[in-house]
Amino acid sequence: MLNFLKIFFSDFFYLIYPEVCLNCGKHLSVSEEYICLECLYKLPLTNFHEEKDNYLEQIFNEKCKIENATSYVFFEKKSIIRKLIHKLKYNGKKEIGLIIGKQMGLHLSNSKNFSCIDLIIPIPLHKKREKTRGYNQSEWIGKGISKSMNKKMNVNSVLRSVNTETQTKKNKEEREKNVKGIFKIKNAKELENKHILLIDDVITTGSTMIECVNTISKLKNIKISVATVAVAVKF
Ligand SMILES: [Zn+2]
Repeated sequence: MLNFLKIFFSDFFYLIYPEVCLNCGKHLSVSEEYICLECLYKLPLTNFHEEKDNYLEQIFNEKCKIENATSYVFFEKKSIIRKLIHKLKYNGKKEIGLIIGKQMGLHLSNSKNFSCIDLIIPIPLHKKREKTRGYNQSEWIGKGISKSMNKKMNVNSVLRSVNTETQTKKNKEEREKNVKGIFKIKNAKELENKHILLIDDVITTGSTMIECVNTISKLKNIKISVATVAVAVKF
């Protein structure tokens, strides 16, 4: 009878507060938020934060100067991460960014390559796009990273002054052309003499991030590292 009541009330509770995993739909335990631990552990981690000259660093080193680059997971077709990033960007689930960011931050804090950063900067969206979406997804990822790394985030010093059309149907050359000159520095003093960690959601060709790195690199005595949630690898 007690057991019955427990099940009854637990089901009743979930009717009012449908706290289910955004990926698999399983009821979440008290310690879980938005994504169940089982789904979180299934993510295909790259462990690039421990590997110098990794796939991502090679992409960047060809086109700009960075200290380190990492991606939390590999972006695979029909994968959990694809589903989560889609919800983060297009379904208003900004908290997914926070949860994933916290996990990323834990990994980065334990990496000697990344633990020395001074400031977190999420790749800015153009203000029109941010208004339409209601938020910048990279800023929510940055918030999570900032929490677990205990480092400050800055969202006012780098701006996206050009509202580019979507990059998804463009090839590598077209993407590079499309993003030329889209970033502007507003508060150079805030960034000078610092090691900056730039944050983005997904990297495919890296052209947007490379443009941002090249814009910030012009500042005095600056170091830049890069961290992204997912990387689409084309081997
Ligand atoms: Zn799940």
